[in-house]
Amino acid sequence: MDGRETGISLYRGRIAPTPTGEFHLGHARTFDMARRRAEAAGGDLILRIEDLDVNRCKPEYVEAMFEDLAWMGIRWQGEPIYQSKRRQAYLNVWERLKSAGLIYPCTRSRKELRNLAQAPHEEEEAAEPIYPPEWRPPPGAERSYDHPQGVNWRFRVSEGEVITFSDARKGEVSFVAGVDFGDFGVWNREDIPAYELAVVVDDLAGGITEVVRGEDLLKSTARQILLYRALDGTPPAWCHEPLVRDAHGKRLAKRCNALALRTFREQGLSFEECGVRFFG
Ligand code: GLU
Repeated sequence: MDGRETGISLYRGRIAPTPTGEFHLGHARTFDMARRRAEAAGGDLILRIEDLDVNRCKPEYVEAMFEDLAWMGIRWQGEPIYQSKRRQAYLNVWERLKSAGLIYPCTRSRKELRNLAQAPHEEEEAAEPIYPPEWRPPPGAERSYDHPQGVNWRFRVSEGEVITFSDARKGEVSFVAGVDFGDFGVWNREDIPAYELAVVVDDLAGGITEVVRGEDLLKSTARQILLYRALDGTPPAWCHEPLVRDAHGKRLAKRCNALALRTFREQGLSFEECGVRFFG
């Protein structure tokens, strides 16, 4: 008996677009997989719009996103959730992590961090250098802050901790804290909650049981597991989809209009035709 027959949905998935540009075939592939997995489980799919970065998220991209989702025939349960309206929930978690001494204010700039000599990194990852542990402030530095504004906030990882999780497509995946990634941002100096924090707060609040997303976020999953632990939350199951590449093997970017969903829509192609042509 599945969830549909009992009326109780056990599976809860989500699609979580960030409207900072045109959506492309890589997004379509992930959204489609999220839809298929929710359908196969007889579960729910919700839509969360990750619009925290007010400077980069534009209304025209939100509009185009709804058109893309309609073109794909994607439906979701309930009203879309806008992260921009959930500040208080993120602030509560910032407060909780701060009180537990798990995050600290970091006065170093991104530029200082980027200037560190780096070993070559995998192309898949947005390369953020490992934050040097010796740059951490003395313990307790967080105590004098009653709001997050003005500095970047980082989550302190335990060097050498191995984080292992099971992925529906890739099997067991492991990363080592302090080696594969370092202390990571949870709130930035422009007063915007970081992706890692917001996504965990929302997936927990939404009762999400499985996260389907691109495999460029595999390392983020390890970071997010640390946040679930810090918040005594049960992590969802994970399914990371392969990235879609262009004819030259380069992963698609939001600024590349040639493979934007809008372009296909405007050419009168259906989503099915695109899907068959590009990812079978
Ligand atoms: N908003 C993220 C993106 O567009 C996806 C986040 C997630 O699925 O966790 O890449």
